[in-house]
Amino acid sequence: MPRQYPIEKVRDFGIIAHIDAGKTTVSERILFYTGVSHKIGEVHEGDTVMDWMEQERERGITITSAATTCFWIPSYRRGEGKSEEELKKLYEHRFNIIDTPGHIDFTVEVKRSMRVLDGAVVVFDGVSGVEPQSETNWRYADEYQVPRLCFINKLDRTGASFENSYKSILERLTLNAIPIQLPIGLESNFEGVVDLLKMKSFKFSGAMGEQITEEEIPASMAEEAKKRRQELIEKIVEQDDDLMSAYLEGKEPDLDTLKKVLRKAVIANKLVPVLCGSALKNKGVQLVLDAVLDYLPSPVDLPPTKGTDPKTGGELTREPKDDAPAAALAFKVATDPFVGSLTFFRVYSGTVKKGSYIYNSTKGEKERIGRMVRMHANHREEVDEIYAGDLGAIVGLKNTTTGDTLCDEDNPIILEKITFPEPVISLRIEPKTKADQEKMGVALRRLSEEDPTFRVSGDHETGETIIWGMGELHLEIIVDRMKREFNVEANVGRPQVAYRETIKGSAEAEGKYIKQSGGRGQYGHVNIRVEPMERGTGFEFVNEIKGGAIPQEFIAPVEKGVKEALAKGVVAGYTLTDIKVTLYDGSYHDVDSSEAAFKIAGSMALQEGAKRAKPILLEPIMKIQTLVPSEFMGDVTGDISSKRGKIEAMNDRSNIKVIDAQVPLSEMFGYATKLRSMSQGRGNFTMEFDHYEEVPANVAQLIIEGKK
Ligand code: GDP
Repeated sequence: MPRQYPIEKVRDFGIIAHIDAGKTTVSERILFYTGVSHKIGEVHEGDTVMDWMEQERERGITITSAATTCFWIPSYRRGEGKSEEELKKLYEHRFNIIDTPGHIDFTVEVKRSMRVLDGAVVVFDGVSGVEPQSETNWRYADEYQVPRLCFINKLDRTGASFENSYKSILERLTLNAIPIQLPIGLESNFEGVVDLLKMKSFKFSGAMGEQITEEEIPASMAEEAKKRRQELIEKIVEQDDDLMSAYLEGKEPDLDTLKKVLRKAVIANKLVPVLCGSALKNKGVQLVLDAVLDYLPSPVDLPPTKGTDPKTGGELTREPKDDAPAAALAFKVATDPFVGSLTFFRVYSGTVKKGSYIYNSTKGEKERIGRMVRMHANHREEVDEIYAGDLGAIVGLKNTTTGDTLCDEDNPIILEKITFPEPVISLRIEPKTKADQEKMGVALRRLSEEDPTFRVSGDHETGETIIWGMGELHLEIIVDRMKREFNVEANVGRPQVAYRETIKGSAEAEGKYIKQSGGRGQYGHVNIRVEPMERGTGFEFVNEIKGGAIPQEFIAPVEKGVKEALAKGVVAGYTLTDIKVTLYDGSYHDVDSSEAAFKIAGSMALQEGAKRAKPILLEPIMKIQTLVPSEFMGDVTGDISSKRGKIEAMNDRSNIKVIDAQVPLSEMFGYATKLRSMSQGRGNFTMEFDHYEEVPANVAQLIIEGKK
């Protein structure tokens, strides 16, 4: 089947929000309006619309799908007197909505969605404005340079303020934000919005607000609207020298020019339009969809995608063209109750075809594409091809995990990788019965394929399974999913901090594994040097063997032995990291030397070296932000200090105190409960991993003795 929509008519975007801002409601409304507009003619207004909505509900709207496809004809085109057929042909766009989670414990989900979306609508609660999670998500969006629109939602709520919310965006997120709408009335009097570019009012009626009426701006708002429009126009003309000089001479650009220049500025991340409404009361969401189409980029508006050549490591780029070599990124592996495993991917260039083979360049393996689907609000569409700029899911891939590149085997590329933080917390998990044991293995494998910040390892000595994640909540959810989706009953231990070890000094060490009494012996002998590396750099192995002191074929086994020994550090058995190991000498025996002997020698040398190089323990330090009413401030800051925390900033946000601090993770267990009791239930906090730091000696002693 040929391409249905030209790539210019595709928008890949996400809806980003802190929990409770209204993401679900906004998404439901979007799927409703796009569904109705797509099927217009079948359904009209009032009861019919509600019925349709009910049916959709029963069939289960898949708003939680990693990528949902829908279609949109801009609402402002509907007044032009064209037939539905013509409207579709001329103006219908394909929207691929990429799901982004609200909770920050799911960094990985947020990051991987940012990686594949081209633009985002950021939703705010019009009562509380910017909240800590919005700030964190905003920073991720900055990291990936995602063009954005802001939607100040819930303006019907008591206490809602467009101005305060907008001010909080300016103060805490960006000075580039600029309203393109103003609300008409607020709280229970919230009626609709003024479009500052068109200088018209828009009101929404009908059971689901599906009827849009354009009116003159209310007289009481005329002055204000004029002033705000001028501010907006100035921001827009600033983007273009010619427009600016014309404007200074008194010539205002026409609507199309204004929209075009604003679009360019949004895509370049220079301006962020601010819209408003109430998703619950069905006001304003259609205009957000119009703005997505008008201001957020299509895949061709962005620079070509970068990647590396897996053979040479050199940089490559891929253009969003259907006939270019295929390059796609797998961004989520999900388990669908009906079709099994689904690998969601975005095509950056070329075409991905059903029935063909695709090369997983990250793993170096070929995979066959048996079936492909696209997820819509209420059905799965089987597709044969997915073109550049589009998203879809492959059914039943075997070895592809989140973050892998899928591409043309003859033109391999590895797309810019998503970097995931290392897990900071672990717990032991034990299946209840023998039957659970098998199921648990399958479940843990599946779950770790879906989520690269979730890891599984085994304790060789006790035979127990250990799972690793980003926080208490993250692992709680994993254990819960294991029960619900895979029927595994298991006993879980207490969450433990994932400490690490490193060295502070340098040392040389020898590893000798020699056994030469009778028969074929063992002979491995290495000399290494260990040195500390910068925090967060991991491990580096350097081979400086000259003159064949150790034959080439035994070098890799030495490295392997060293790596194995890193897994169990010399202070308290935690992983050793940020260490450089140089193999500089050794010896071998013609007959007795073997890979196994050199591997053991490598392990022995590493252990010896680490012991001599001032080994220390490292602990994860978390960045926390706590919000409390000012009367509880003293208790909360005192508590943070008693947790070895460092307070970094204290700010006022209306009558709330915002405390930014860094605190060791080991001190943070149970903080949610403690904060609740310290603040009569009115405190709130967010936490994310920041860095690893040396554990103070007195605390280290407790960890070594197993008391902490
Ligand atoms: P999410 O957590 O961001 O997905 O938020 P939801 O869409 O689930 O909304 C959280 C709560 O806010 C729900 O009770 C919604 O009914 C309510 N809500 C969402 N949008 C609005 C709105 O525009 N006005 C009001 N008053 N409530 C809203």
